[in-house]
Amino acid sequence: MVSRVKKNQEMIKIKTGRCDLCGTCVGVCPENVIRLSMTELSIDHAGCTRCHKCIWICPVSALEMMELQNDIIAISS
Ligand code: SF4
Ligand code: SF4
Repeated sequence: MVSRVKKNQEMIKIKTGRCDLCGTCVGVCPENVIRLSMTELSIDHAGCTRCHKCIWICPVSALEMMELQNDIIAISS
């Protein structure tokens, strides 16, 4: 999936080494933009409202907010 995110906009970064694919964050996302497969967690950044709920709920701190420094970019999630 490819999403477009504007300059200085925040987006969720997934620390794949920490995430154990427990699925807890999927259930709290009000926008339903977090996807979980057998092997991967991904986020549709275009639909994310930056509410931070997924970050707060993750039991292993595998999610964090980061600010983009570049102009509009395409991100594969
Ligand atoms: S809650 Fe944390 S560990 Fe669980 S799937 Fe989400 S990011 Fe991964
Ligand atoms: S910040 Fe909010 S809207 Fe964005 S992925 Fe996390 S829970 Fe969903």
